[in-house]
Amino acid sequence: MARSGIETKNGINMSAQAGLGTKFTPNPIDKSTPDFVDLSGLGGPTFILTVDTEEEFDWNKPFSRSGFGTTHLTSVPRFQTLCSEHDVKPCYLVDFPITEDRFGVELLAGYAQSDQAEIGVQLHPWVNPPFDEDLSNINSYACNLPKALERAKLTHLHAAIVDRFAVKPDAYRAGRYGAGQHTASILADLGIAIDTSVRSRFDYSAQGGPDYTDHPINPYWIKRGAVIELPLTTVFGGVMRSVGDLVFGQWFGSQPARSALARTGLVERIALTPEGISLEKAIQGIDMAIAKGVPVINLSFHSPSLAVGHTPYVRDDAQLADLYGWFIGVFAHLKASAVRPTTMAEIKNASGILNGF
Ligand SMILES: [Zn+2]
Repeated sequence: MARSGIETKNGINMSAQAGLGTKFTPNPIDKSTPDFVDLSGLGGPTFILTVDTEEEFDWNKPFSRSGFGTTHLTSVPRFQTLCSEHDVKPCYLVDFPITEDRFGVELLAGYAQSDQAEIGVQLHPWVNPPFDEDLSNINSYACNLPKALERAKLTHLHAAIVDRFAVKPDAYRAGRYGAGQHTASILADLGIAIDTSVRSRFDYSAQGGPDYTDHPINPYWIKRGAVIELPLTTVFGGVMRSVGDLVFGQWFGSQPARSALARTGLVERIALTPEGISLEKAIQGIDMAIAKGVPVINLSFHSPSLAVGHTPYVRDDAQLADLYGWFIGVFAHLKASAVRPTTMAEIKNASGILNGF
């Protein structure tokens, strides 16, 4: 695995190792600890539902600045109704094309104003001005862009959201989980208290993205007193789960080796998402996260999955029904396990962050 960064044609060394924060535990038996956030103020285990709210595009085609749709937004009300029935306030992490969709803005701003949901920020650099970079896989990760361009895109997006949704967003997710060494400072300057870009246990370095293999699953400071990292929740299942971190991170460094290992059932990576993870597996994963004392279980999925035909996970009506069955089953299991829904605003307050923004 290349560790030395990626040379681009303009000669800039765009290090794929500049993922958010350094590697906290380079060696699994290392006792050095990350700077965890005290969230005891939340009063027990909680969960949050984060929605990558974004345009529809073909995930298998090269990146394009145009040719996308936002038609699935008409399918959001069904989802929101289900959430509201369960007292869940989803955090819609909206990207730039959503800010340009009049229907979507009115819909989501309405949910935020009636305190049924929160609006956050999600950056897809390839469809977010200013357009000063070439379209490429590397440049699809905002952390690989020149520092000033990552800042300019995020600032432009933040301003559009504040203006059109009339909210002050508390949370950010980089598209494709592409946060890096400059992201925390940009968020601090924009008054965004929570980054939720880190997908612990996933390694995107083969595509030029960050390597989050060794990152924590509990929230930790990436800028003390100002910005928290709230990782997406992924746990290891299988009979060898107790050594999952060691096995995935150190012994099986390549993706094919990890996949082969997962097929044996000895160690299985469970990301808490309805996209590709069954209800049964998700419930196992939730129980493991509870047992590990994760203070905020961070569930996630992409909004285009709410309509048939836009993502690899929802190709027909049966899969859409399964998606809804997953939410209903997960909400019920969380409730039965005394894990209550929380919000970004609550997490920010519990952390003690007080910014004057
Ligand atoms: Zn996205």
